[in-house]
Formats: sequence, C-alpha cells, structure tokens
Amino acid sequence: MRELKNIEIQFIPLSKDEKKIRFFGTLIPAILLLKASPLRFLRFQFATLYTPNVGVKEFIASDADDVARIGNMWVFVHRWDSMEFDPFAFARAKLFLKRITRLVKKAGYKAEPFDPLSPEMNLPQLGAEAGLGNLSPYGLLVHPKYGPRLILTGLKTEYNLECNMQPKSEGCTDCLLCLHECPQEPAKGGVIDLGKCQSCTKCFEVCPIGREVCRTSH
Ligand code: SF4
Repeated sequence: MRELKNIEIQFIPLSKDEKKIRFFGTLIPAILLLKASPLRFLRFQFATLYTPNVGVKEFIASDADDVARIGNMWVFVHRWDSMEFDPFAFARAKLFLKRITRLVKKAGYKAEPFDPLSPEMNLPQLGAEAGLGNLSPYGLLVHPKYGPRLILTGLKTEYNLECNMQPKSEGCTDCLLCLHECPQEPAKGGVIDLGKCQSCTKCFEVCPIGREVCRTSH
C-alpha cells in the first residue's frame, strides 16, 4: 500500500497464478501485434532465431532506450511508440532480452533473463532503485523522459557493463491525474481491483510525463 497525499490505494491482484499470468501476458500482446501487422509479427518470430554479431555494449546502446544497474542486475527500458499499449515495444523488449542473454553468455558470463511477466522480480521497483525514475501510484516505473509508457526487462549477470549512470530527475510528480481518470475511482474508494481493469489505458494516456517524446502522440 502506498500513501499519496492522504490517499491510500489497496491493489487487488488479477491473479497470483504464475502460469496464468504468463499465458495471458504472452497471448494478449501477441494477438494485438498480429492484428496490427501480421508481417511484423512474423518478422519478430524469425528474428528471435538470430543474434547480431556485435559487442554487448554496442548492442545495448543501439537496442535499449535506457539501462541502469543495481547489484548484479541490469534493468533495461524499452519505450512505447504510442500513447496506448504498444505491442511492438513488448515484442522488441522480448527480442532484446533473448539476444542480450545470448551475447552475455557468448562473452563467457552467466546470464539469467527476466521478462516483464516474471512474477518473482519486481522490475519497476528495481528500476526505481537503480535510478531509472520513480514509481507511480499504480507501482509502474515513471521514467523522466518516457513517462510510464515503457516495458522493462532485466538481466542478472556478473558481466561488468559500464553503463551511463547519470543521476536522473524523478519521473512521477504525484499529480494524481492517473488516479482521478481511472474508471474505478480509486481516489474515492481507495481500491484498485485489477480483475475489474478494462485496459482502458487512461492512466497511461493522461500522464503528462514523457508525452513530448512519444512518437505518435497527438
Ligand atoms: S499522471 Fe501524475 S501521478 Fe500519475 S504517474 Fe503521471 S505524474 Fe505520476
């Protein structure tokens, strides 16, 4: 539970069943991607079979939008290209994670990947601790440049990457617009039942942080 300007929000999880979360969490973005572009969907499927022959650092610089390290964990940011959920960003993030895992292993290090559906790893929390932004009232990472419209992936490894650890300003300003726009009215009731979430994505659309860099924002 997080306290915000005297508003206490209690989250009721959609499910604690890891298999269910993974099944639907994979299926729904795949259907959205297929609907948006069958050709790109196929391209992503084939692309997972191939890993570019580049160094780890070069690959991260070209294919991740931001990165930070905390302990032996790297957290990568993959920004959305739209104000609504971006299935292409989701596919890009999964492809990136497969490839970076192979590249780090090829460099002689162990690498354990964590995708956005890994229930045992709270990537937004880790991202915030690593300096990539701060948490929204919904517990999402709000990056100062991209806002909450992003996908996170993680990699546990001892590989020593010198990533750009410039201190960043905070992302979420606690303006509470996302809470006030949510049809469940958590600002009044104090509860968000994820089972009742209709994926309206209003909480993402109203957030003023990062709107200007969202490529297809209107
Ligand atoms: S809408 Fe306001 S409170 Fe919600 S995440 Fe964005 S900055 Fe934070």
